Amino acid sequence: MTLTLPPLPYGLDALEPHISRLTLSLHHGRHHAAYVEKTRQLVRGTPLENAGLEKIVQSSVTRPDRRLFNAAAQAWNHDFYWHSMRAKGGGEANGAAASLIQKSFGGHQTFCQEFIKSGSEQFGSGWAWLVLDGDGLRITTTGNADTPLVSSQIPLLTIDVWEHAYYPDYQNRRVDYIAAYLTHLVNWDFANANLDAALRGPSAVAARK
Ligand code: FE
Repeated sequence: MTLTLPPLPYGLDALEPHISRLTLSLHHGRHHAAYVEKTRQLVRGTPLENAGLEKIVQSSVTRPDRRLFNAAAQAWNHDFYWHSMRAKGGGEANGAAASLIQKSFGGHQTFCQEFIKSGSEQFGSGWAWLVLDGDGLRITTTGNADTPLVSSQIPLLTIDVWEHAYYPDYQNRRVDYIAAYLTHLVNWDFANANLDAALRGPSAVAARK
């Protein structure tokens, strides 16, 4: 399998006005594309040449040379981020995610406050995540390319808080970007699909990719 840039799950205008066509085209077509290309270059001629992206991330995480992990994890994180949003998304969770939000955070508002706080306080570049950790939900952040994919946590949703994700639309107002994501973009159907796959077992999660 040769790695290729996965298409966006929606059009370049789909997330406007919250994320502009310009931001989305640069972010997907330049940043994400560059991570895929770098990964493809680094696995060429190696035993990982025909591996899937998840396998490459998991196989490279312990290497002292971080180049392959950084490129592959960024490629994986970005694809997960695109699917974490949709046109006319946002608002309160539904289904199993809603029950777990209530149980783990006490309600939607507290979840939103904690998600915004975590994402805005992540120093420098990185990601904020909603993960399944044991039998409850948790908000976590990772720096640079790091990803809960290589932890015991199961990622359900993510937001990219690297400046390239929001600077053209929000400049330094990272809080406003995260709030817009929660109010207008977040894709709870994707979170529920990840939750469902996780609760059915690791093989179901693997089959998703
Ligand atoms: Fe990014």
